[in-house]
Amino acid sequence: MLVDSHAHLDSVEDLGTVLGHARSEGISEIITAGTSIESSRKCVEIAEQRRIGTRIYATIGIHPQDGENEIKNLGLYQCINSLIQITKTSDRVIGIGETGLDYYETGDTKQVTSKDDKKNQRELFREQVKLAVQLKLPLVIHCRNAWEETFSLLTRHNHYSSSGAKRNREVPIKKFSTSLSTMSSRPNGSNNKLTGVFHSWTGDWNAARKALDLGFYISFSGIVTFKNAQEIQEVAQKVPLDRILLETDSPYLSPEPLRGKTNEPKNVKIVAQFVADLRHLSFEEIAGITSENAGRLFGI
Ligand SMILES: [Zn+2]
Repeated sequence: MLVDSHAHLDSVEDLGTVLGHARSEGISEIITAGTSIESSRKCVEIAEQRRIGTRIYATIGIHPQDGENEIKNLGLYQCINSLIQITKTSDRVIGIGETGLDYYETGDTKQVTSKDDKKNQRELFREQVKLAVQLKLPLVIHCRNAWEETFSLLTRHNHYSSSGAKRNREVPIKKFSTSLSTMSSRPNGSNNKLTGVFHSWTGDWNAARKALDLGFYISFSGIVTFKNAQEIQEVAQKVPLDRILLETDSPYLSPEPLRGKTNEPKNVKIVAQFVADLRHLSFEEIAGITSENAGRLFGI
């Protein structure tokens, strides 16, 4: 049993082969994350084609770098509305995201996120946080160089809505009751607090502590195996075991020693072995713990 808690199966060329590998390597579940309306629809479609072997679930959302054209064409509120409509089509939708803030800056400072871009990203992220609150679903967060803004936004919307219940009733109820009942066992002991995961963690321990205080989980991708990733490895050693998830972010971010090659969900085993070694645990222990965590967070 091992869960790849974040992959982009909609961007995979030979999906049949890749899922065959995942199945024969014992990957029990894959969560495929949407990055735009179109990609979210594709992810749900892939999750719905129930196959023998690895189970597939979808999260739906608009990535800070990915939805520009859709937002330009449809407008932000129509995009959010489309996400709501997609949740109604399938009980395989288990979260909102990938969403967040990406304040990229390249070394030569020629390419920096502009003020306008930051403003648009904030608005898009805020609407998706509100959507998670309204639908009582966990958030899948992408965060680059925007820790404080991300934390303060999450602090402002940190409780699931109770007044949104009427609207929620149109969405499959079973999913919500499952995730709500499992949330009561979450480490912070609150059963109505917004929760989710920071995917492909790249921050330091100080940022990790704040994410944990907010009741969020931390997911490690192949980046944790990179030689220059000491800060991330420190976090992977310190995070409480009941808050760790593992992922590939495939087809991107192959772990060492496959860096530079196309990534696939089966490589979550490499990430698991790496984190197990860091924590002086066995592969089976870390696989079991992180799969259980993914099950608790996403209600799967
Ligand atoms: Zn991703």
